[in-house]
This record gives sequence, structure tokens and C-alpha cells, in this order.
Amino acid sequence: MTRKVKAVVIGAGVNGLVAAAALARAGGDVTVIERGSAPCGMMALGLFARGPHPAALETLGLKAAALGPAISTVALCPSGRHVMVEGAEARFADGSAHPGAERWRVLSHRLDRFATALAPLLTGAPPPMRLRAEGLPGLLRFALRLRLLGARDMRELLRIGLSNAADLAADALPEGPLPGLLAFDSVLGSRAGPMAPGTVVPLLRRRAPLRRMDGLAARLAAASEGKGGRLRIGAGVARILFEDDRARGVLLDDGERVEADLVISSLGAAPTLALAGAEQFDIEAQRRIRTIRAVGAAARVDLYLAAPPRIPGLDPAHHGARLVLAPSVQAVERAFDPVKYGRLPALPVMEGRIDGARLSLTVQCVPYGAPHDRIVAASLAALEMVAPGIGGEIRQAEALSPADIEAMTGAPGGHWHHGEIALDQFLTLRPANGMARYAMGPPGLFLCGAGAHPGGDVTGLPGLNGARAALEAMR
Ligand SMILES: Cc1cc2nc3c(=O)[nH]c(=O)nc-3n(C[C@H](O)[C@H](O)[C@H](O)COP(=O)(O)OP(=O)(O)OC[C@H]3O[C@@H](n4cnc5c(N)ncnc54)[C@H](O)[C@@H]3O)c2cc1C
Repeated sequence: MTRKVKAVVIGAGVNGLVAAAALARAGGDVTVIERGSAPCGMMALGLFARGPHPAALETLGLKAAALGPAISTVALCPSGRHVMVEGAEARFADGSAHPGAERWRVLSHRLDRFATALAPLLTGAPPPMRLRAEGLPGLLRFALRLRLLGARDMRELLRIGLSNAADLAADALPEGPLPGLLAFDSVLGSRAGPMAPGTVVPLLRRRAPLRRMDGLAARLAAASEGKGGRLRIGAGVARILFEDDRARGVLLDDGERVEADLVISSLGAAPTLALAGAEQFDIEAQRRIRTIRAVGAAARVDLYLAAPPRIPGLDPAHHGARLVLAPSVQAVERAFDPVKYGRLPALPVMEGRIDGARLSLTVQCVPYGAPHDRIVAASLAALEMVAPGIGGEIRQAEALSPADIEAMTGAPGGHWHHGEIALDQFLTLRPANGMARYAMGPPGLFLCGAGAHPGGDVTGLPGLNGARAALEAMR
């Protein structure tokens, strides 16, 4: 009888849960160790999800329909002429035609085609630096999809791929909330402004329909357990154990040892190195991991009001939508400028959601350790543009800065992606040169969290790719 591969997955965020399901489905004996009091990780901070990706859902045995209906986005405008966006359709929130609707439709369809072409690069490990057989199918699929775009679109994708979201938006649409929305989606979770090179690719990763994130973590955890991944909640990993220069299990905070043939970490690369011990990595690998740029710029804010917020021009029937306050590309870039110098912008940009008298926000462009009262004050200053008088309605306000998020979840720098998504930290350079195919340091140790390719958001793709790489290595 063949012995079951024993695997330990560190962390029960979306990627740990998907990795566990993939390993268990392949016949592994899988234990997921989670330090927090519930499975979810940074999902607990999220408001809307475009995922998990269909391949991750399939691994979990879930159907997209079970995640709830897709919702629309309202791009808020200080003039009160808010724009309702449903995929490629855009109109004013009062139902009247938007003059940029046709240009928005053309651009949306083009971005969808580009996203389809790019998909093979995201759903598998990045191509190996040296051409090897295992990298060929993904590369060929990508080349084929690129070719199928036709000469015009292919040239355009290659042109904009390394360019920036601000130029893309400005070329397609007159300035305002619609290009502002594109700019916002290109940098949400990153420490970058939309004029930074490489901001078009994050936009192409965000083309799937949006849903509210309610209850998603519990559903993913139940599905992962249903596939055979055993969850141990409230148990932290203190060290990764090695024997004969290979990972052999983990030591928990309470001193218990959990033996394993594979250790798969959904933590960032630097916390994983810390758990393994620097001595397990050569000096160059240590340097590369320590220099990964990972300083978060997204904060969570919850405002409890006396009554549901009043936003002139927005019918309360649309309160269930995703609300984005990023009135223009310039507004997003201006919000980012002070963050470079560790300062809060006067008017940060944000997305939000209304649940009765509670307004929950993801506020973008918040420096790492910004004080709570200043995050709330800046958020309210921006909200006053579209909801005059909202400051007087607040009964209670809570904020989590990137520093708080790091303390809560262990995510490096409290970063949404466990490490900046940028041209120098993407594909074969993610999390760092020489580690892009999920294997990390000594044999038996793998990375499967947002810090690995293709990065964060609730897609489950790093988890799936990481588990597949680990299984491949065991074979
Ligand atoms: C403010 C904010 C809002 C966000 N909103 C959205 C959104 O609306 N939509 C979206 O798609 N994405 C959103 N994200 C990003 C998204 O949540 C993450 O990219 C994704 O959840 C990362 O998942 P992960 O499994 O890779 O890592 P994590 O979620 O970080 O999970 C890692 C897990 O490991 C656990 N852990 C840490 N150390 C140990 C240890 N030593 N032992 C055991 N367990 C340990 C942690 O408790 C955690 O549960 C948001 C992020 C932030 C910061």
C-alpha cells in the first residue's frame, strides 16, 4: 500500500484553503494550521470579491452561483451625476444615457479580450527561466491566445502591457468618474499611483464579475474541509522543522510537533523565511526575500451612523452596489502622491458598501502606521464631497491601518498582496528571482499565498498553483 503524502498548510486564508483542498483531492493527508480564531485571513477585511477563480472553485467543489449574485458598481461623482457600471455597460445612476457609454463598452470588451489572452500566464506557474518541458504548455497557450487576438489587438496589448492605467484611461475616455474607476481598480491594494508603469496588468486581473464577500470565508473553509483538508484553528506555527536538509513538519506555539512530507506556507515570503530560519537559505536568497517591497497602503474603515447615509443623486435602491469614490484619474494620482512621503492624502480614494446605518470602506492611499483618527478624518473629508454633512451623522468609527493589518494577520507590511504587484515583482520575479515556481529554499517547502504568483485578491490561484507545484515535486 502506498503511504499517503502528509502535508501541512500554514494559514487558512483563501490560498491556504484552496491549497489544502487541492492536496487532499490528490490523496494527501492534509492539516491546515491557522493562528487566528477563524479561517479567513485578510478575507475578513474584504468587501467584494471577483473570485475565487473558476479553477479554484472547481478544486473546492463549489459553483460560482453559490457565491451569490453579481453586483454593479456606482462610480460616485461630487456633482451628484453618479455613474452606474455593469460590466461593459455604463449609464448615469438616474437611468439616463452616459455620453461615454459607447467608448466604455469598446474599452471594456477590449480589456476582456486582453484578460483572456493573459489568463494562461496567471492560472499556472510562471514560465521557467530556462526553457523546460513543464513550462511549454502554458507558454504555448499564451502565445496562441495572443495570436488569436489579431494583429491590431496584439500590438495594442504589447503597447499598453508595460504602460500605465492613467494613459490607458485618458486615451479612451474624457476625465471623470469612469476613468477614475479604472485608475482605482488598477492600484487598489498596491502602493502605487495609476501613472506608475505596469498598472495595466492589475486591471486585467480584475475583469470577473463582483460579488459581496459576506460569508465567503466560512463557505470556502467548509468546502476545503469537505474535500479532506483538516483545519486546526487557533494554533500558530512557531517554526518549520527540517531533517536531512528537507522540510519535515512544523512546531506549534504550544510545543506540539506536526510531522509532514510537505510544508506549504500561505504566509508572505519573509515570514516564511523567519519560520524556517535564515540558515535554510543561501545568502543571496535571504537578500532577495528581505528586499521584497511589501508596505501596504489600504486601510479598512467602518462608520456607524445614526441612519443610512444620504448620498444626493443615489437612490437608496442602489445602496447594495459597490460604491467607488475616485472622481477622476487625477484624484487617484493626487491621493497617492503624499503616501510616497509617509503622509495621508487630504482626500483619499475608496470603495465602500452600505449595510443599513453602517458604511464599510476600503480606503486606498493610507501610509503604513497612520493614526486611526486621522484615517477616519481624511475618509470623512473625501466622503463629504458626495455625502454632505455625513461627519455629523457618525456615532462610532473604527479604522485599521496597514500596520494593524500586519499585526492581525501577519501579512508583510499589511500588504493586500503580501508584496507589491509591480513589474519587478511579477511573473518569474514573484516573490523573488529564483523562487517563482513556488518551491522555496530546501526541498519540501513551498509558498502558496498572495506573495506568490499571480498575487492577491480572493482568487485562490497562488494556493492552487502552489499545491500543484508541491505535488509535482513529490512525484
Ligand atoms: C484592507 C484590505 C481589504 C481587502 N479587500 C479585498 C476585497 O474586497 N476583495 C479582494 O479580492 N481582496 C481583498 N483584499 C486582499 C485579499 O484579502 C488578500 O489578497 C487575500 O485574502 C490573501 O489571501 P492569502 O490566503 O494569500 O493570505 P492571508 O489572507 O494573509 O492568510 C494567511 C493566514 O495565515 C495565518 N497565519 C499567519 N501567521 C501564522 C502562523 N505563524 N501560524 C499559523 N497561521 C498563521 C493568518 O492568520 C492568515 O489567516 C483586501 C486586503 C486588505 C488588506
